[in-house]
Amino acid sequence: MYKPETIKELLERSPLNQSITLMGWVRTFRSNRFIALNDGSTLTNLQCVVDFEQLDESVLNAIHTGTAIKVEGKLVESQGRGQTVEVQVSSLAILGGSDPEKYPIQPKKHSLEFLREKAHLRIRTNTFAAIMRVRSALAFAVHRYFNESGFFYMNTPIITGSDAEGAGEMFKLENEDFFGKATHLTVSGQLEAETYAMGLGKVYTFGPTFRAENSNTSRHLAEFWMIEPEMAFYDLEDTMQLAEDFIKYTLGYVLEHCKEDLAFLEQRLEDEDKNKPQAERSPMRLIEKLNFVVDKPFIRLSYTEAFEILKHSKPNQKKKFKYPISEWGADLQSEHERYLVEKHFDAPVVLFDYPAKIKAFYMRLNEDQKTVRAMDVLFPGIGEIVGGSQREERLEVLEQKIKTMDIDPEELWWYLDLRRFGSAVHSGFGLGFERLVMFATGMGNIRDVIPYPRTPQNAEF
Ligand code: ATP
Ligand code: MN
Repeated sequence: MYKPETIKELLERSPLNQSITLMGWVRTFRSNRFIALNDGSTLTNLQCVVDFEQLDESVLNAIHTGTAIKVEGKLVESQGRGQTVEVQVSSLAILGGSDPEKYPIQPKKHSLEFLREKAHLRIRTNTFAAIMRVRSALAFAVHRYFNESGFFYMNTPIITGSDAEGAGEMFKLENEDFFGKATHLTVSGQLEAETYAMGLGKVYTFGPTFRAENSNTSRHLAEFWMIEPEMAFYDLEDTMQLAEDFIKYTLGYVLEHCKEDLAFLEQRLEDEDKNKPQAERSPMRLIEKLNFVVDKPFIRLSYTEAFEILKHSKPNQKKKFKYPISEWGADLQSEHERYLVEKHFDAPVVLFDYPAKIKAFYMRLNEDQKTVRAMDVLFPGIGEIVGGSQREERLEVLEQKIKTMDIDPEELWWYLDLRRFGSAVHSGFGLGFERLVMFATGMGNIRDVIPYPRTPQNAEF
């Protein structure tokens, strides 16, 4: 059976002095002799050495950065420096030419902003290929972790009629007649996931999520991928443990399986840092930082403890926060989260037991009647990466909450049924996949860790 071999597979097999066939895109062509070939399977370019006297002039003249080619030849030990093996080309075919005057991805440094405008071609750069290989490995690790932990993968609807999540601004669908009711794109699969947890035990979703976030930040997309595990019989403690375990597993997975790409991204970050003032540079190298998170326990503290720390913090006393901390109960802003994670603890932090007033209706009310069993995981450079809670399992308490928050209980009849028939303690969380990819790759803008970002005024491609 004929199967095109990738450069990655070839390098692993390393069949020295045997004939091989490869296809890929030319990264560079120098001295009319050396082609750096890349096919996306790995960061490594394979050097293909052509004998220009044997090549047809028209073929030779068509080899440019971006050209797709097929080469046949022999894999041999390299004569030159910089690689251990190379291909001695015996025949070369142009699959698709690329006009060097017009091809935007030249073999030089392009800015991330420039590449965002060429998102259909940026995957042919080392940086984006590395990011997207890491993204793919992380997605695989997500499924593997849950599969190994006895979770079932479920898919929640993308078009929903439930109007009550309160997780963010929604994209409304136009054709109300079709469904006979107002519908929108989902902002979270949580409520539906809860129904399945209360039957299958442990479930998770991993799918697209939509929020009409008006804020143009480096951490928000209008369309992002969310991972939402939901577990029957888990309390908040269990859930905080799960979130920490899960994050460590997925980052550990890429540390083990994406070494080459991470080393490249680490170098990229260091080069980028050189142009920044000292204070803005990353204190840790990328791989060191990932290992740090995998090895060290996350810091856990309650909202109230965090509030006290923030209240007495230097920036608060010197009025450096844009939103000063004075009254217990205020929502924490990203400047506060960053202070805790990056300055005070210098580690990932799990905050729990938030004021009920600033959290969603479904979170379980604590005995103090003031706080709910909510938790957020905060990460250096990212801010909130996980938001979760123990869900209110008591029908009367939930009904009361729905009333005070002015939500229509009719809309939630099926959700309330869970509390009518076989209710039990259960919990879950949502993790924004792109924020995890940002952390793993060291990228500073969420637009660079998803193939085609959707943000205000931008839906190209
Ligand atoms: P934030 O305060 O950062 O806007 P949130 O409180 O709205 O987050 P949740 O509703 O708890 O977030 O959603 C769960 C997770 O989904 C978040 O912890 C985050 O990782 C991710 N997330 C939320 N909104 C976005 C977005 N617009 N783009 C990308 N990821 C997001
Ligand atoms: Mn939000």
